[in-house]
Amino acid sequence: IWITLEGGDGSGKTTQAALLQEWFEAQGRTVVRTREPGGTEVGQLIRDIVLHHRGEIGARAEALLFAADRAHHIASLVRPALERGEVVIQDRYLDSSVAYQGAGRVLGADEVRGLSMWATDGALPDLTVLLDLDPAAARARLDADDKPFDRLEAERADFHIRVREAYLALAAAEPDRFLVLDATLAPGELAARVRERVAALLG
Ligand code: C5P
Ligand code: MG
Repeated sequence: IWITLEGGDGSGKTTQAALLQEWFEAQGRTVVRTREPGGTEVGQLIRDIVLHHRGEIGARAEALLFAADRAHHIASLVRPALERGEVVIQDRYLDSSVAYQGAGRVLGADEVRGLSMWATDGALPDLTVLLDLDPAAARARLDADDKPFDRLEAERADFHIRVREAYLALAAAEPDRFLVLDATLAPGELAARVRERVAALLG
């Protein structure tokens, strides 16, 4: 089973990924926990470029680098793990690109989605958990935790509002794949809701 976590910076994806991993491992399942960008060694190099040289490269090059990271990540790590019957829990996937590059960078949702589908030969997860959070609340949360802002710091408020709205539109278009949760709920409550949906998927 392949589960991706989506949401803005500071929405709690990493915490939920860790809790879900623990739950699967307690059942004796082998879990591959990974992320984009940067889930592979080559991907780490790409992550460095997209995070630290974004201003120099422009939006289209940025989108292509995310897609290149994704192509390699899926082919070399995710697909083999799924073929071995392992659980893959992944922090960010193509929905991030549709939201950040497609809507945030205004490259177009359909174009960016098409690029990503080409990159991965159409690989789609069994479940995508969207941790929905108002960008202002996310900023307050990152401030309180004294965490770096990444994109939140670098972009204007309207960028993050577009990202959030794109995520919600994606979830509305694919309700079977998505579970949308209010990220202001307590981590334990969120984890319980994720487990409930996963259990239903596992049958
Ligand atoms: O989630 P993570 O911290 O790994 O993301 C790193 C940064 O890259 C974040 O600021 C995130 O907003 C940004 N990002 C992006 N486009 C993507 C994925 C992540 O701009 N497709
Ligand atoms: Mg994170």
